[in-house]
Amino acid sequence: MRYLNLTLKLIITIAIVVGCSSKENLRPSILIQNATIVDGSGADGYVGSVRIIDDLITAIGDLDVSYADSIIDGTGLVLTPGFIDTHSHHDWDTLRTVDAAISQGITTIIVGQDGSSRSSLGDYFDSLTTYPLSVNIASYIGHGSVRREVMGDDFKRQATKEEIEVMKLLVETSMKEGALGISTGLEYDPGIYSTTEEVIELAKMVSQFGGRYISHMRSEDIHLEQSITEILRIGKEANIPVQISHFKIARRGLWGQAGRILERLDSARTAGIQITADIYPYQYWQSTMTVLFPKRDFDNRESAEFALSELTSPEGMIIARFNAQSEYEGLTLAEVAILRNEDPVTTYIELIRMSQEMPGESIIAKSMDLEDIKTLTNWEFTNICSDGAPRGHPRGWGAFPHYLNMDTGITFERKIHKMTAQAAENIELDSIGIIKVGYYADLLLFNPDRFEDKATFKEGQLRATGLNMVIVSGRVVYQKQRPTQVYAGRVIRN
Ligand SMILES: [Zn+2]
Repeated sequence: MRYLNLTLKLIITIAIVVGCSSKENLRPSILIQNATIVDGSGADGYVGSVRIIDDLITAIGDLDVSYADSIIDGTGLVLTPGFIDTHSHHDWDTLRTVDAAISQGITTIIVGQDGSSRSSLGDYFDSLTTYPLSVNIASYIGHGSVRREVMGDDFKRQATKEEIEVMKLLVETSMKEGALGISTGLEYDPGIYSTTEEVIELAKMVSQFGGRYISHMRSEDIHLEQSITEILRIGKEANIPVQISHFKIARRGLWGQAGRILERLDSARTAGIQITADIYPYQYWQSTMTVLFPKRDFDNRESAEFALSELTSPEGMIIARFNAQSEYEGLTLAEVAILRNEDPVTTYIELIRMSQEMPGESIIAKSMDLEDIKTLTNWEFTNICSDGAPRGHPRGWGAFPHYLNMDTGITFERKIHKMTAQAAENIELDSIGIIKVGYYADLLLFNPDRFEDKATFKEGQLRATGLNMVIVSGRVVYQKQRPTQVYAGRVIRN
């Protein structure tokens, strides 16, 4: 009887163990087979399979099919990590699919840029946890948003010591709520009126939480060199990793000097400052009409003339949005000047005046040299971003495939690296950006010969073509040129 009992116990134990292990095998998995795996590290691609269970990559290589596998055939396609957009405005989209991002292969957006963010990241992250997007999201706290909260409309001056102390408390709260760090927009109101010392004080607070600093610098044209000096000083004195965002040389007189500027950054790195950059691959930027007036002297003809000759041109400035007279939208400044029977400088000054009476304007303007863009993107510590939004500049719907199709003199694998693992490294996120066991299954499947951006300056909201599939957290969020209405995006907190 005793032996029988023991035998029974043994049988039950074996049954439980077998039961457990077969249960393990029964967990549904996805097997992507026969794809060329370009893993994001920059290494050459190789043909193989990748298995996903839940939201993670669990196996890579020459894998046998298990009965729990749903098979995706990757024959003739490349499998890469999803793209990481380190400077995004895609959160302006009201649809949870974030179509502009996923249709170009972006699976993680980093928002709260240019000094502008939601004031309470905690509430925002909570709402996204309840109602996730199709893409992953992380956010900086915006210096400008904090400054405005403390100083209100009285921001056209230096902040007092007491005001900076209050700003520090707000930054501290945001860091505790999961901000990646702080972003500044020092070429915009209200950031333009801050001193470097104010920024350093706030950056020191961020540094205490292991956060980072990203900046739309004080100048990208006239005072570019001084702006670089400023960001390096912030990195050094606040002991914080710093990133130049949408890196550009937007002044004609500085074109061709990208190599020399990068030498400055390299020697700063040698001296211990952790500086990196991101960039979007276009000669045109998008911003406000007033951004080209660092002295804020909008009615000064000399300043307007300088902007239209040295920083951009009447033919190279497209009116993207203009609430005061919407029929100007889509035209260049040169075309508007002809319509109004004026010279372009007069028109420029007049349009700014009109937009101050009826706010709401945006321009797309050509200021960058293609060779500089190539040199800056090829820097070892540069990753690709879109700086894109659901409307406006074609980068919003096309930056990443646009870059892939650009001839910059580096391999396809290096380009993928700059859109994935390099981005993750620059913003210090582990577990995404590379195809590796244990990493999140954020993946793209496409034919590199067919993957193309379609958005243009006239039609900015066209989906890229040739992207077969986008997977976020192990779930298909985009397929056959359409969002699948699956919301698998994670909130990434610092
Ligand atoms: Zn910016």
